[in-house]
Amino acid sequence: MERVWYPRLTQEAAIPAYNTDTSEIETIGRDLIATAPDLALHKMLQIAYLFRPEAQITADRMIVGMCVRVDDRNWTLTKNDFIIEIAQDVWEDERTTDAYKRALVHHELCHAAIRLDKEGQPAFDEKSGRLKTYSKPHEIEEFNIILKTYGDWHEQFRGYLEEYGKELLAKTAKGKTPKAEGIDGPTAGDLAVE
Ligand SMILES: [Zn+2]
Repeated sequence: MERVWYPRLTQEAAIPAYNTDTSEIETIGRDLIATAPDLALHKMLQIAYLFRPEAQITADRMIVGMCVRVDDRNWTLTKNDFIIEIAQDVWEDERTTDAYKRALVHHELCHAAIRLDKEGQPAFDEKSGRLKTYSKPHEIEEFNIILKTYGDWHEQFRGYLEEYGKELLAKTAKGKTPKAEGIDGPTAGDLAVE
């Protein structure tokens, strides 16, 4: 039987109307890169910022931010190493505090990572001259029920608790974490895409 191929125009996902009027995000990003010790090498990166009009809602989470490593073809054209995409509806929501915005941008910048050579210096690709980068995953990702049932069974979680957890948990108890009420924290609702 002859097969007929139809264009699948009706099945295409709607393309969000991105916009690049992101000076507020860029200002926070520049300030973080200039001041945060963990982002000292980020001065070497070219980062582009983008608003998408609405957060992506999936079955279990709301994706507020995303850090995308730019592929080599698009890097050649734009010299952008990473694109940080933020949901504009959440960003502009009245419940979203300045502290939340700063935490969100810092979080996304943490996904933008630079490979180091054997001497501990930033590594470059010999042929293209591009700084070697990768999308860094979170140290901690766990189901609440597993934490609740088994506690600090996980080596990475134990390390996290030893280094930061007690202080952070204490802050949470006092309601001081930079979380917008009713909006997922950035650690619970974002993606790093390579
Ligand atoms: Zn993340």
